[in-house]
Amino acid sequence: MAFFFFKRHKITSCWDHLEDEIDRAIRKKEFVFYYQPEYDLGTKKILGLEALLRWNHPVRGQVSPMEFIPLLEQSKLIHKLTPFIFNQALKDLREIKKNGFNQLFMSVNLSVVQLQDPALLTVIKRSLNKYQIDPGFLECEVTETAMVENFIDALLVLNKIDDLKIRLSIDDFGAGYSSFNYLRELNVHKLKIDREFIRTLFEKKSNETILSAIINLGHNLNLTVLAEGIETVKQENWLKKYGCDVGQGFLFSKPLPLPILLNFLLTHKEKSIASQRKK
Ligand code: C2E
Ligand code: MG
Ligand code: MG
Repeated sequence: MAFFFFKRHKITSCWDHLEDEIDRAIRKKEFVFYYQPEYDLGTKKILGLEALLRWNHPVRGQVSPMEFIPLLEQSKLIHKLTPFIFNQALKDLREIKKNGFNQLFMSVNLSVVQLQDPALLTVIKRSLNKYQIDPGFLECEVTETAMVENFIDALLVLNKIDDLKIRLSIDDFGAGYSSFNYLRELNVHKLKIDREFIRTLFEKKSNETILSAIINLGHNLNLTVLAEGIETVKQENWLKKYGCDVGQGFLFSKPLPLPILLNFLLTHKEKSIASQRKK
């Protein structure tokens, strides 16, 4: 019982001090990005990178974004992090480009709460400017579930992001409430199919039918289609056979911190980096 109270107390105090924790974490550089490559499934070349946040907490160790992003969303403290997110991801992209990988793009996850921040567009423009990145090399990933809630407001902001020539992609496609409205309303560039579809692909025949239908839907809308969470060669081969364009997953590479990513890119420079901005 005492343990129970102790745990509850810990959780409550964590909530009480979350703002202080965030301020400290930003100041002490506890937030770091890991970057996961996106591969052209046809050529096996790297096209770009997705920025995935980690919190190196002094007491809790490395905390997953699945744990702290919802907390920061509920409390709106995520707004404090948005400038850091764009600055860090674009600073690192500049570093990656300086190392000779000029053609790679950077994809940043945006939650619907971040879309409600009136400063968002200014923050993005400022970071692009600061690190001299062409907006065409920045992508913003928005989750389907997140977008459905505040559809009209989200649309306005996303259209403004599109006006800046930043590419938009729909993350975890198929996992949320299935409203296809935004596909009609937004200039989406890429569908990222939720990894659950790939994980369960061979469990029953109908899963294959559904996944191939999603790939066709994306192509009929002229979108690039990416499969998330590819872990086996069997999944990769199936996806190639059914025309999926881009893949991401532990089979190719886990998310990597910048120094290790640079090493990885430099080691594979000749054979695995796309020479032109394509998908
Ligand atoms: P997501 O954007 O869908 O990112 C993909 C997640 O799948 C990542 O988890 C990645 O590590 C994981 N993953 C990639 N390949 C595989 C695979 O082959 N197998 C398995 N089992 N997992 C794989 P991660 O890094 O824990 O991120 C979780 C979620 O947190 C992200 O999902 C995204 O929604 C959110 N997130 C991460 N960074 C940020 C950020 O900077 N801002 C916002 N708003 N959300 C973020
Ligand atoms: Mg994502
Ligand atoms: Mg995803």
